[in-house]
Amino acid sequence: MTLRLTVHGSRWRNHLRSVLEQTPGLVPVAKGNGYGFTIGRLARRADWLGTDALAVGTYAELSEVASRFSGDLLVLTPWRPYEPALDPALTRRVIHTVSRPSDLGDLLARQPGARVVLERMTSMRRHGLSAPDLWSLAGAARARARLEGVAIHLPIASTGSAAPGANLAEARALMDDVIGAGITTVWVSHLTAAEIATLRQQYADLTIRPRVGTGLWLGDRGALQGSAVVQDVHELGRGERFGYRRRSALRSGHLLVASGGTAHGLGLAAPTGAGTLRARAATAARGGLDAVGVVRSPYFLDGQQLTFAEPPHMQASMLLLPHGARVPEVGERIDVRVRYTTTTFDEIVVD
Ligand SMILES: *Cc1c(COP(=O)(O)O)cnc(C)c1O
Repeated sequence: MTLRLTVHGSRWRNHLRSVLEQTPGLVPVAKGNGYGFTIGRLARRADWLGTDALAVGTYAELSEVASRFSGDLLVLTPWRPYEPALDPALTRRVIHTVSRPSDLGDLLARQPGARVVLERMTSMRRHGLSAPDLWSLAGAARARARLEGVAIHLPIASTGSAAPGANLAEARALMDDVIGAGITTVWVSHLTAAEIATLRQQYADLTIRPRVGTGLWLGDRGALQGSAVVQDVHELGRGERFGYRRRSALRSGHLLVASGGTAHGLGLAAPTGAGTLRARAATAARGGLDAVGVVRSPYFLDGQQLTFAEPPHMQASMLLLPHGARVPEVGERIDVRVRYTTTTFDEIVVD
């Protein structure tokens, strides 16, 4: 059983270095499943890149990065009174995000002089302070904490209905709030390199710290390859039943069992592309199943996308070989094209 991520090491490292060069003030983000790489591996990579700060998603993730990365550690999830106390060894390295007026006092009562960034609400409407709250909190933070700047988390511009440049327009308005609060460092996300360059020109006194995860770790997809191993192949006669659901084959063919299932984060839906009715009908014809319930899988054999014979199991998936396709050997590896932010690989191989 292995679902493997193969990283073409030199290509990946070249990409990381080029993002670093093109992104002054870069703050790598390592959170969740570590974008498929694990958080610990990303922390070591960030240390190798030599940035002065690394962002994690949650307080629980600090322990995974603290010994692997030597610089400052920004926690993206805003601090709340219900968070457990910080490991005393980390108090000098951790930068907290504060997004509600009452949290600043509560945090400072527990950790006097804590390092904080104040999060300003954006059109995301996830977390953040209003402009008046930012102004009043900035004074208190300067007096009683180590104020490290303002955080603004913008929507992902390339999706949804946001007009091109909408993030820049919003960022500009927010920069005015930051300057109004007398703050000179701003931690931003989801701005393009061009947008950041424009902001740097227009706000020359500001220090801009772009927090980047996807564009850094996953920005060169060609450096990454997912693969599964063929665990079994069975001939399937017409009308024969298979799987947990006892479906029957409409025509003879082959059933393929490959590593990777729900435990790895594989879902029913294919990761990319539109599943049009016509495509589904064509797939159904190839796969020999009726159109109802035929779902494209993330598995590919010789460049051809395979369909799920039934929903993925915990650690394996049953697939249908298209009519006339080459029948692979047990032990052979086949491509999987998965969403890295939702996949847990068994094995990561850097070549
Ligand atoms: C996850 C996250 C990022 C990084 O987002 P990517 O799309 O992976 O670059 C930046 N800022 C915040 C607050 C985040 O939660």
